[in-house]
Amino acid sequence: MPEVRSTCPYCGVGCGVIIEARGGEIVGVRGDPQHPANRGLLCTKGSTLHLTARPLVAQQVRALAPELRTARGARRQPIDWDTALDHVAERIATCVQKHGPDAIGLYVSGQLLTEDYYVFNKLAKGLLGTNNIDTNSRLCMSSAATAYKQTLGADIVPTCYEDIDCADLFFFAGSNAAYAHPVLFRRVEEARRRNPAAKTIVVDPRRTVTVSGADLHLQIVPGTDVALFHGLLHLLLWEGWVDRRFIEAHTEGFAELKALVREFTPALVTQLCGIRTEDLVLAAQWWGQARAVLSLYCQGLNQSTSGTAKNAALINLHLATGQIGRPGAGPFSLTGQPNAMGGREVGAMANLLSAHRDLANAEHRAEVARLWGVERVPEAPGKTAVEMFEAARRGEIKILWIACTNPAQSMPNQRLVREALAAAELVIVQDAYRTTATAALADVLLPAASWGEKDGTVTNSERRISRVRRAVEPPGQAREDWRIVVDIARRLQRRLRPGRPSLFPYASAEEIWLEHRDTTRGRDLDITGLSWEMLERDGPQQWPFPDGASSGRSRPFEDHVFATVSGKARFVAVPYRPPAEPIDARFPLRLATGRLRDQWHGGSRTGTLGRLFGHAPEPCIELHPAELARRQLRPGDLVHVTSRRGSLVLPAAASDAVRMGEAFIAMHWGAEFVAGCGDERPTFGVNALTIDALDPDSRQPELKHAAVRVQKAELPWRYVVFGQVPASRQLELQLALRAHFGAFGYACCVPFGHDDARAGLVFRGAAAAPVQVCVLQAIEQVFGLEDAAALDDARRGLRSRLRAEGGHVVAIALAGPVEALAAEVWLRELLGRPLPLPAHRLLRPGAQPPAPTVPRGRIVCNCFDVAEAEIRRVLATANGNALAHLQAELKCGTNCGACLPELRRMLPA
Ligand code: SF4
Repeated sequence: MPEVRSTCPYCGVGCGVIIEARGGEIVGVRGDPQHPANRGLLCTKGSTLHLTARPLVAQQVRALAPELRTARGARRQPIDWDTALDHVAERIATCVQKHGPDAIGLYVSGQLLTEDYYVFNKLAKGLLGTNNIDTNSRLCMSSAATAYKQTLGADIVPTCYEDIDCADLFFFAGSNAAYAHPVLFRRVEEARRRNPAAKTIVVDPRRTVTVSGADLHLQIVPGTDVALFHGLLHLLLWEGWVDRRFIEAHTEGFAELKALVREFTPALVTQLCGIRTEDLVLAAQWWGQARAVLSLYCQGLNQSTSGTAKNAALINLHLATGQIGRPGAGPFSLTGQPNAMGGREVGAMANLLSAHRDLANAEHRAEVARLWGVERVPEAPGKTAVEMFEAARRGEIKILWIACTNPAQSMPNQRLVREALAAAELVIVQDAYRTTATAALADVLLPAASWGEKDGTVTNSERRISRVRRAVEPPGQAREDWRIVVDIARRLQRRLRPGRPSLFPYASAEEIWLEHRDTTRGRDLDITGLSWEMLERDGPQQWPFPDGASSGRSRPFEDHVFATVSGKARFVAVPYRPPAEPIDARFPLRLATGRLRDQWHGGSRTGTLGRLFGHAPEPCIELHPAELARRQLRPGDLVHVTSRRGSLVLPAAASDAVRMGEAFIAMHWGAEFVAGCGDERPTFGVNALTIDALDPDSRQPELKHAAVRVQKAELPWRYVVFGQVPASRQLELQLALRAHFGAFGYACCVPFGHDDARAGLVFRGAAAAPVQVCVLQAIEQVFGLEDAAALDDARRGLRSRLRAEGGHVVAIALAGPVEALAAEVWLRELLGRPLPLPAHRLLRPGAQPPAPTVPRGRIVCNCFDVAEAEIRRVLATANGNALAHLQAELKCGTNCGACLPELRRMLPA
């Protein structure tokens, strides 16, 4: 069977994968043992990639042909590629001629390959003459990049994965790495197993799974990270644990910072952060006495109006203690997306230029113009992500070209985004999926190739460039992103700059990469010593890798010469500022968004697979049990969650991972899966609630802190349908069910089940009064329930249906007041099993399970479909090494290992 080495398209760990293909189809995937990022490991997301690439998935959800909408409100119609490309080029050229280049906005993605990114950037800045190109990495890494530049002088991650093996203090801040970067987290666990003396501190307002193995959890009040880091520095200074020789020789600006942190006394910091003084002191002591401190941080720092300040304040600690530029030590920002780093390298952001050049720097602009063979690169800063949508809403940007991202799900303040998309004269969406919320709003849909179907490179969190390789042809008429861009660019050049040599003469992704490589000569990320041939022969390589070098540098700044004019690192003295939106009597809860273990972003890929919902089956808002009690709510109650920007109805879940006064909703729950028509219609998923306030330096929005209120939703009539549907139609049926969301006050529809041949779907709804029977019949038809056994009681509003096939239960519908759905818990367990009793006896009001049933609960181990209930049953009989016993009995935690932190949390104390 042909095997192709490539890279996982999900998180920034950048794991190597080996794709198995047969007959033009991807049939398997496994971790690449030779890839230094993962050494053969994959997490649940990576190890199920092949299942999301099956033709039966592609047929249902992939964009397979270009489509054009000729009038607003009309349906898009399939068209051929030439017509689509001509149309796009003509509309853009006309718009540029009429309104100027800044009337165009390009919003691209950290999922794109470096070569795709490069040509998008050149098209915007070199051909059109606008800097209005930004990427969803703005929502992810821009604070980290900005802080590196402020402190170290360049956007250079100074650490590498090998540092994990050498550290003796792991300082996680704003990172739930156990979920968001699972393979990296396993390496940390492994390092701690080898070195039991190593310590872990986790700074996080939530008690996440990452916290479970930590030695110290600093559960700070959301948004107070800067105060905490200043407080730690205050103590490090007081105790004499700073490295004065390092500060003197290799840094500047310490006096100002020292004066600033003087006021961050333990008394003030513990009061601001809501932590105990002894914990603060202990953290300072461990940091001050550690041989090598590795801090690992992510969106909890970045997605904030103080994102840059939080990053810089943490880097200050490393500089003050000399914990940088040596094995095991340094500030390590974990990139969220697979190629957020590549976008920064080619400068595909509104404030950057190729090879880490700055748009604001006239010399840099001239260099890039010379490299590209254009007269000039425009000077005016472009619009960053949120600003671009604001400009579109104002009518300044008239054409939005969105590639490989889903802003109608992922951007904060969805009202703004939806209004911008409605106001734009033309919305072009270039994507592999036609099922995203953004694709639904496109005037032109350009079908793009996806993972396993395209060639190029990506750069992971540790600056390692890996090859992405094609294993199969793209489905339908889908094309590689760079080809689509180049085809449009050539047409645009004929219209806007006729008679000039082509700016886009590329015949392959490698040719684009070679041009990108040349732009890096002499720059901090110089890769002129690299070639695709070398990547082929020697595997993934880290930058910088200049001409003549025999290898990349795994750890920049080992000489303690930083990328500033003086060569010294700079301390940044920024005072603590609270989040943009304070809580008050009307909006008294602090809402954070974050990741689930088995989902990726908006779920256009992971959301196609039922088994990836086993761990977190349906949307919810997590609140502390005491918070629920205080509001006279019970777990499962539906609540209106309302911010100043929008509202959403969700079930409430009790969780002691959050504190009183705080709330959590997973970032993945967009309008594709959930609708809650609360005070307003329609609603747009979790980001209806979040705020679009920006960090002043990085322009990154504050996705981790919004003030909300929670009120019980009076939706007493409930409805649920669940059952098995043909896998070949599951996603198509899911889409059809989405069309009924509007009939309910709350609705969600998700796949479930571990059996990839017989897919499961559940539709859940709630309303103030029974929903029209014709709507229910339409939903039930999807599950083949129209001729099923039925039991209705119109007087009590009860309705139930059960369908069996070959004597096995295949679908059930229940409707009525909340109590009428109590049987769902045990009826779910009958699915796919022999019908134990006549259907009417199972459906009658007050029916009891035919045999004692223990609900399986959520799936903890996805690889072997092991649920919570089974784990508890086995643990009850375990002696000695309980984890080993579990692994022997159930195999859980013996494959990808993503569930290990949770298994450990479930073990007896
Ligand atoms: Fe992919 Fe998981 Fe590796 Fe991230 S940790 S790159 S999601 S396999």
